[in-house]
Amino acid sequence: MKKIEIAGGGLAGLSLGIALRRRGVPVLLREASTYPRHRVCGEFINGVTENTLEVLGIAPIFHDALRHHSTRWWMGECRILEATLPRPALGMSRWEMDERLRRVFEEEGGVLRTNDRAKPVPREGLVWAAGRHLEKESQLLGLKGHFEGLNLEGYLEMHIGEGSYIGLTPITPDGSLVNVCGLFKKRKNRKGENPIVDALRHSGLEVLADRLDRATMDPKSLTGISGFHLGSQGAESALCTLGDAERMIPPFTGNGMSMAFESAECALPHLFRYHSGEVSWEEAKKRIRCSLDERFRSRVKLALGLHRCLTNVVGRAILTSAACSGVLPFSWLHRRLS
Ligand SMILES: Cc1cc2nc3c(=O)[nH]c(=O)nc-3n(C[C@H](O)[C@H](O)[C@H](O)COP(=O)(O)OP(=O)(O)OC[C@H]3O[C@@H](n4cnc5c(N)ncnc54)[C@H](O)[C@@H]3O)c2cc1C
Repeated sequence: MKKIEIAGGGLAGLSLGIALRRRGVPVLLREASTYPRHRVCGEFINGVTENTLEVLGIAPIFHDALRHHSTRWWMGECRILEATLPRPALGMSRWEMDERLRRVFEEEGGVLRTNDRAKPVPREGLVWAAGRHLEKESQLLGLKGHFEGLNLEGYLEMHIGEGSYIGLTPITPDGSLVNVCGLFKKRKNRKGENPIVDALRHSGLEVLADRLDRATMDPKSLTGISGFHLGSQGAESALCTLGDAERMIPPFTGNGMSMAFESAECALPHLFRYHSGEVSWEEAKKRIRCSLDERFRSRVKLALGLHRCLTNVVGRAILTSAACSGVLPFSWLHRRLS
């Protein structure tokens, strides 16, 4: 019986580890950092099904997750859309979610090594779930922080600025704590004290920046990431990659966490067959790659196209006019992107 080693204890790595442990597979998980911690994330999950959570054995973790039913979108200062989500999005802070998954993984007998950075050297039995591929030249910047004193009236908010977008998500049942997370273009000269407010002003989102200025941010929750690109992360590599390490969907979809879980679900039967000696490592890896491609290719392609629209002047004008005239097929897009 063969063992599995997983590099990266994010959502893909932990959920895969739990699912394998529940099937009796020995798993070593190596995580470069520690738990719990804040992560750059919009903290709402679009698209994940109850079935995926059940297969992975992680449905109970979400028993008390928030259920978000509706969303409002702004283009600059102009509200362009208010819609009901065809399927509610799950809401939970990453601090809480990652910690709950870690606990279950260890309770199931998984071996976790924190502060342990693995090397991306392909070898039999190694699953690479270590997140995005580092790309130093990338101009993308992700920022997030938790705020008190913002009233979202129960909606998920999305604000589109010049070359940027930012989402606001309630993370407590009474809506008193709100996660604010955005994707911006990197720039050199920052002015204000709060990098999120500063980035918003630079994107022309003055009204939202003023709202955040009047609210209170938990300074410990402020996190940022850069050096990443969206789309395929180089799946042709000889590693067996899952989650963001395989491909990154643009964050406006709120579907990246679902993809992390779904990728674990796709890999599970093939890794189990490898563990039982039914298929070779090369065969398991090939089947996993096919399964991921089948499930994610068209979803990510559509999301990348829309991301380009959201971050360019002409695309924004077209989206605004479609949304304001009521012809934007929101429900269809939502289903295709999740
Ligand atoms: C700005 C922004 C907003 C987002 N908002 C949302 C949202 O609202 N909803 C949504 O669904 N998705 C969102 N996402 C995407 C989502 O966060 C990711 O898709 C998801 O976290 C991917 O999970 P993962 O397990 O693949 O990777 P990660 O969660 O990144 O986990 C990878 C883990 O590997 C560890 N690691 C890295 N290198 C090594 C190494 N060499 N050895 C060992 N461990 C290593 C890291 O410390 C990390 O813990 C957002 C992304 C961005 C950038």
